[in-house]
Amino acid sequence: MRLVPVMETPRIEIDLSKIAHNVKKLTELCGSKGVSITAVTKGVCGDPKIARLFLKGGIEIIGDSRIANLKKMREAGFQNPFLLLRLPALNEVESVVKYSSISLNSEIDIIKELSKTALKNNVIHKIILMVELGDLREGIMPSDLEVIVKEVIHLEGIKLSGVGTSLACLGGVLPDERNMSQLSNIAQSIEDKFGITLEFVSSGNSSVYTWLESTEDVGKINNVRLGESLLLGGKDLECKGIPGLYYDAFTLVVEVLESKVKPSVPYGKISVDAFGNIPEFENRGQIRRVILGIGRQDILLSGLTPRLDIEILGASSDHLIADAKKTDLKPGDEVIFDVDYGAMLAAMTSPYVSKVYLD
Ligand SMILES: *Cc1c(COP(=O)(O)O)cnc(C)c1O
Repeated sequence: MRLVPVMETPRIEIDLSKIAHNVKKLTELCGSKGVSITAVTKGVCGDPKIARLFLKGGIEIIGDSRIANLKKMREAGFQNPFLLLRLPALNEVESVVKYSSISLNSEIDIIKELSKTALKNNVIHKIILMVELGDLREGIMPSDLEVIVKEVIHLEGIKLSGVGTSLACLGGVLPDERNMSQLSNIAQSIEDKFGITLEFVSSGNSSVYTWLESTEDVGKINNVRLGESLLLGGKDLECKGIPGLYYDAFTLVVEVLESKVKPSVPYGKISVDAFGNIPEFENRGQIRRVILGIGRQDILLSGLTPRLDIEILGASSDHLIADAKKTDLKPGDEVIFDVDYGAMLAAMTSPYVSKVYLD
């Protein structure tokens, strides 16, 4: 069988130089528009090696949705400001204040708790108020914002540092001239009405690229929160990849466990599969079926694209089954897949997938 040195499978190979290239291109674009980047590490579980690339590329703030990831980076020695992306839960305000210096917020009761906790710990915690602009995930309705700002600016221990919005997260609403100028106007009117300066007027996520690249005037928007485009080059965006970026910094390598010619349709009395579904298979006659050593526990099936001409037929927890078509796959062979954001996230999260860094 294989004569080359054996590497563990499944593994996700991470090409750090490709990520560094994406960082360089996006910081140049954003820099030319006067906009800073908050680099989002949640897709890679707050991986310190990748986060370090972001800092080396000149990005100052790292954002993550999970406190555990921020903690991991802090413990790895990171000194930069951390932004907590997911709204803080009431039970975690202590660690929010401990592990992040800025958080995104929309609930006054939580902000009051953050204020008490920051005061107790003798720190100033920065708050960015999220505004709802149509995507219908987190955010205060614009008409309710002023009342909340009025309360927030009087709280001790916290500083109102900005306003922000999340788009293209739940509703698929794209950042465009209309909603971005709405955010600018909201920021301007808060500054005017309350006589304050907002450090951040922040938009996200990676789908902001299309607007940012084409707009003549970013208005007051001075920060964008990017994860996917830094890591995977924006391949999942409407624009199908940002020109000049790498889309393949992450590849998944899986090993063949079995390769046999068998029927394409199950035979016997059919009930349900391992996940309670009644499976359906197209009759292709006899085919070469390969079993690969990865499963639903480790990946998002729909997010895998094989580099070889094979077709994924299905997967259970630990086995992925593919039609090998005309390829000559045999046990011990490695099969390489490109991943989308969901598949990268799952592989990076799975303790069963080893992480290999290429430089
Ligand atoms: C995840 C997230 C981002 C980054 O999203 P990408 O699609 O990875 O660029 C930005 N802002 C918030 C609030 C997020 O949760």
